Amino acid sequence: MNARFSVPKPYNESLLEYRPGSPERKAIKARLAEMKAQKANIPLYIGSEEIRTGKMKDCRSPYDHQQLLGRYHEGGAPEVKKAIAAAMKAKKDWAAMPFHARAAIFLRAADLLAHDFRWTLNAATMLCQSKSVHQAEIDSAAELIDFLRYNVFWAEQIYSNQPNNSRGMWNMVEMRPLEGFVFAVTPFNFTAIAGNLPTAPAIMGNTVVWKPASSTVYTAYHLMRLFKAAGLPDGVINMVTGPASVVSQTLFDSPDFGGVHFTGSTGVFHWMWQTVGGNIAKYKTYPRLVGETGGKDFVMVHASADTAAVATALVRGAFEFQGQKCSAASRAYIPDNLWPKIKKQMADMLATVKMGSPEDFTNFFNAVIDKPAYENIKGYIDRAKKNKACKIIAGGKCDDSVGWFIEPTVIVSTDPKSETMSQEIFGPVLTIYVYPEKKFKETLKLVDTGSAYALTGSIFANDRKAILEAQEALVHAAGNFYINDKPTGAVVGQQPFGGARASGTNDKAGSYLNLLRWTSARTIKETFDPPKDYKYPFLEPDAAPETAEVYDEAVEAHDAASPSNGAKAAKSSRKHPKAAAA
Ligand code: NAD
Repeated sequence: MNARFSVPKPYNESLLEYRPGSPERKAIKARLAEMKAQKANIPLYIGSEEIRTGKMKDCRSPYDHQQLLGRYHEGGAPEVKKAIAAAMKAKKDWAAMPFHARAAIFLRAADLLAHDFRWTLNAATMLCQSKSVHQAEIDSAAELIDFLRYNVFWAEQIYSNQPNNSRGMWNMVEMRPLEGFVFAVTPFNFTAIAGNLPTAPAIMGNTVVWKPASSTVYTAYHLMRLFKAAGLPDGVINMVTGPASVVSQTLFDSPDFGGVHFTGSTGVFHWMWQTVGGNIAKYKTYPRLVGETGGKDFVMVHASADTAAVATALVRGAFEFQGQKCSAASRAYIPDNLWPKIKKQMADMLATVKMGSPEDFTNFFNAVIDKPAYENIKGYIDRAKKNKACKIIAGGKCDDSVGWFIEPTVIVSTDPKSETMSQEIFGPVLTIYVYPEKKFKETLKLVDTGSAYALTGSIFANDRKAILEAQEALVHAAGNFYINDKPTGAVVGQQPFGGARASGTNDKAGSYLNLLRWTSARTIKETFDPPKDYKYPFLEPDAAPETAEVYDEAVEAHDAASPSNGAKAAKSSRKHPKAAAA
C-alpha cells in the first residue's frame, strides 16, 4: 500500500465507577448472572484447533468453593509439542504481515474490550480471581486496553527510530521478531498481565505459546475469545494448559525456544533461568529471558508526614485485592512520634472494611486465590502469633469454610528482620516496624537491606530534604518509587513498571523498553555507487614536492567527499606537507 500510516495516538481508558443505578452496574450484574449460569468447557487453543483432551480440571470461585465456573481440558507434552509446531508454522506469515495490519488487530481487541467484552472480562476476573468490581475494572478492562493501545504506538516508534546516513548511502535498522517462538507464562493475579505477556511479543511479529496460571484458566479462555474476535490469525498465540513443570520443560527443550516472557514468583524464575542456562548449547540463538517476579514493597514514613495520607495508603496499598498485588505494601517503617495517630486512623478505617463475595458490591475485601495460597498465608500469621517480637493488632483470623478468606492483618514487629517483615507473603498481611523518630537515616538502611526484593516502595514526608535523602538512600531498593503515594497502581504509559534485585529483570511492562526485548535488530547499509577500485589514496607513492596549498585543498576535498569520491579527488592532488614545504 502506497502510504505511510500512523498509529492513532493512545490515551488511557477512563475508569467506570459502577455507582448504584449506573448503566455499567446493570451491565456487569447481568453478565455475572449469565456467566454463572453457563459452565464453560475450555479447550487448549493450538493453531486452528480447539483441543479437548478429556483430562478435566475444575474452575471454581475462590470466595465460594461450591461455585463451579467451568472445566478445562489439561494438556501434556504432546500438546505442547503441537503448540510449538503451530507457532513455528504461523511465524512466517505473521512476521510478513504489514505492521499497520498487525497493529489494527490489537487496536480492535482494545476497542472490543472497551465495549461488550468489558463486561465479560470484568465478570470473569471477579468470578475467577475474586476481585471487587473496582479492582476488575482497573485490571481486566483499563490496564489491558492501555497495554494494547500503547504497545502498538511504541512499536511504531521503535520501527521509526532509524540511524544517520552519510552521503552516497542509506542506513536502515530493521527490528526483526526473534528467531523461534516466545513462551509466555502468566500469573494468577492480573488479567492485564495475562493479556499483555503473550500480546506484547506478538505485536512485534513473534508467535507465542502461552501457559496461563492453572487457577485462572477460566479468565484466560475469555481472553483467547477476545483475541479471536479481534481477528488474530490461528497459531499466533497458542494457549496450552497442563502441569507447569511438564509444559515448561517441553518448551525449554525445543531448539526453537527464542525467549520467555514471565511474571510470577522469584523461585520459579530462578528455575527457568537455570534450566535455560543448562540447555544453552541446544538453542539456535541466545533466548531472551524477561521475568517480573516477587516483591516486599515498603512504605517509609518520615516524622513530617501527613498521617491520614499514610493510613489511607497503607489500607489501600496493603489490602486492595487482598494484598495479592506484586506491588502491595507489606512492610512499613513508621516514626514513634506519628505511630499512635496512624495506628488509630488505620484501625478506624479497617473497622469499616467489609469482607465477602465480590458479587456483593459493598465488600471492599474478598477471598485469596486458592487453597495453597490460603495455607501459605495462614502459616505466616500462625508463626507471627507465636513470635515474641510480633503482635497482631488487626485481623489475623482465617476461615476456609465457604471460600479462602483471610482478614486484613496488621502485625507490629520489634524485629525489623522478622519473617513477615522480610519475606514475600503475597496476601493481606502488613508488618510495621516503629522506629525512633530521630533514627531516620539508620532506618533507611534497614529498608534498603531488609529484603532481597526491589519492586516498589514509597516515602511519605512533608520535609523535602527527607524526601531527597530517601530517594538517594533507596536508589536500588525499588524499580517504582512513590513520593507521598501508595506503592501500587502503576498506569501504562505513565509509570513503566518493574523492579530489580530478586524482583526481576526490570524490563518495564507498560513501556517501549519491554517491546525491545522481543526484537532482534538487523542493520542494513546500501551504497548507491560503490567503489570500483580497491586501492585507497594512501597507497600512492610520494610524488614531487608542490605547494602547501595543494595539500590543504586535497584534505578539504577528502573530508567533504564520500569514500569513493574522496579517493578520486585526492588521487589528482594529494601531497605530503613535508614534501610541500621542502
Ligand atoms: P507463580 O510463580 O506460582 O506462577 C506464575 C506462573 O508460573 C503460573 O503460570 C504457573 O503455573 C507457572 N509456574 C509455576 N511453577 C512453574 C514451573 N516449575 N515451571 C514453569 N512455570 C511454572 O506465581 P503466582 O502465584 O501466579 O503469582 C504471584 C507471584 O507473581 C508473586 O510472587 C508476585 O510478586 C509475582 N508477580 C510479579 C509481578 C511483577 O510485575 N513483578 C506482577 C504480578 C505478580
